[in-house]
Amino acid sequence: MLDINDLHKTYGDNHVLKGVSLSVRKGELVSIIGPSGSGKSTLLRCCNRMEHASSGQILVEGQDINAADAKLDKLRQRIGMVFQAFNLYPHLSVRDNVTLALRKVKKIPRAQANEIAERALTRVGMAHKADAYPGQLSGGQQQRVGIARSIALEPAIILFDEPTSALDPEMVDGVLQVMRELRETGITMVVVTHEMAFARAASDSVVFMDGGVVVEAGTPDELFGAPKHARTTAFLSRLG
Ligand code: ADP
Ligand code: MG
Repeated sequence: MLDINDLHKTYGDNHVLKGVSLSVRKGELVSIIGPSGSGKSTLLRCCNRMEHASSGQILVEGQDINAADAKLDKLRQRIGMVFQAFNLYPHLSVRDNVTLALRKVKKIPRAQANEIAERALTRVGMAHKADAYPGQLSGGQQQRVGIARSIALEPAIILFDEPTSALDPEMVDGVLQVMRELRETGITMVVVTHEMAFARAASDSVVFMDGGVVVEAGTPDELFGAPKHARTTAFLSRLG
């Protein structure tokens, strides 16, 4: 589904990604953990071309996303992204936040887009708030709408960048529960997270990044139970 080969990214003389390789199979949930500044967000941003990689290759369903003829609109329909800050449009209702890209990018008529939005909102437990505005929702509810907006486009893969980091603690579980349920439906997911209990319980594999490289990757039991690298052990022990 997603194949990243020897990806490099530099900002000026800051070499942020130093040869990252990673494979995600269809239906897998892969968690990426690692200290702040290790390049996790940059890696995700390269995957939907919010950033252009300096070198290396990213294939989504076998297609090179950096190919000259890759259409960004089409690409971003296939590669969804959910951010830490929910990035909902404050002046649009929940329903219209979810249908906007369906109508403007996919050119789906409003009535049909509303039906798709209804289904997506139902999946995240937010159908009852379709007429509300983002400002009337809690952070956790806004993030669930952000996830609904992403799944409504039926992407091949969804990238999550610390989806619960900006939430009050009591909101975190609801969002993680929605993500567990999505996983059960077979959506391929890459999740950058500090929620180690989630990473351990919900992932097919876990990737530890530090200093712009993948230090170690494995099953949750391997990575959390028997880390092979001193840097992994040090990171996990710092979390207490
Ligand atoms: P993480 O998500 O793991 O915390 P990031 O990918 O956000 O790490 O950042 C990795 C490094 O890249 C940091 O040193 C950061 O300062 C740098 N960086 C990230 N985005 C930019 C940017 N747009 N311009 C310049 N440097 C950046
Ligand atoms: Mg980040």
